[in-house]
Amino acid sequence: MLVDVHAHMEHKAFEPDLTEVLERAKQAGLTAVISSGTNYELNVKTLDLAKKFPIIKPALGLYPADALRLSEEEFEKSLDFIKAHRKEIIAIGEIGLDFQEAKGKEEEQEKNFSRLLQLSEELKLPVIVHSRKAEEKVIEVLEGFKAKKVVMHCFSGSMSLVKRAEDNGWMFSVPCNVVFSEHFQNLVRQVSVSQLLTETDAPFLPPVKGQRNEPMNVAFTVKKIAEIKGLDPEEVEKIVFMNFKKIFR
Ligand SMILES: [Zn+2]
Repeated sequence: MLVDVHAHMEHKAFEPDLTEVLERAKQAGLTAVISSGTNYELNVKTLDLAKKFPIIKPALGLYPADALRLSEEEFEKSLDFIKAHRKEIIAIGEIGLDFQEAKGKEEEQEKNFSRLLQLSEELKLPVIVHSRKAEEKVIEVLEGFKAKKVVMHCFSGSMSLVKRAEDNGWMFSVPCNVVFSEHFQNLVRQVSVSQLLTETDAPFLPPVKGQRNEPMNVAFTVKKIAEIKGLDPEEVEKIVFMNFKKIFR
C-alpha cells in the first residue's frame, strides 16, 4: 500500500523506460503515484499517461514559473483544460509560490496562485503545493482561502511555520531525502503521523545524490519515518495509506 503523492512521470527523464519504472514501483508495493503536471503541455501528457498506466493518478496544475510565462489567454486555456477534465483528476497540482525563481514577480505569482486555489475550491479538489523562499506567504494565501485539503510538498519552512500548517490540519508529503536531511527529520519528529504522506518528486530529490529518483524510493521515506516515530514500517505504511485515502477521496 505504498503511495507516492508527488512525482513527475511526465518528465522527459522517464521517456526511455517509464514502463519499467512503474513495474518496479508495483513490485515494491506501490498502489498509487500522483503525477503532477506543471504546464499545459505536461498536463495533457499527464492525462495521457494516466490512461495508459492505471497506477498513475493525475494532478493538473501550473508551476509558478510556468504560470508567469503565460498570456491571459493561455492562462484561461490552462484553467479550462483542468475544468474540462475534473472527473479524471485527483488534485490540483503542482501549484504554489517560488520567490527564488522569478524574483520581482511576487505579486503576479500570488495572483496566479490565488486563481488556481479558486479553481480547486470550485472543483472541490485537494491542492498539492510547492513553496520555496515563500513559505509564509503560501500559508497566508491558503489561510485566506480557508483551504482544508492541502498537501505541503517538500515543505522547507521553519518549524514554527510547520506548526502553523499542521494546526490548519494540512498534510506534509515527506521526500526521500529525509534519509539525510536534518530539516525533514525534524519535520517528521514534529508533525503528527496522521498528517504525513510520502513523495519522491521524481526524477528530482533522490535519496542518493546524483541519481535519478523514482517512485519505488518512497520505501526509504517510510523506513525513516518509522525509525523517527518508533513505529514498524508496516504500521507507517498503513497510516500513510489511510492519510492518502482521507485527503484524496
Ligand atoms: Zn514537483
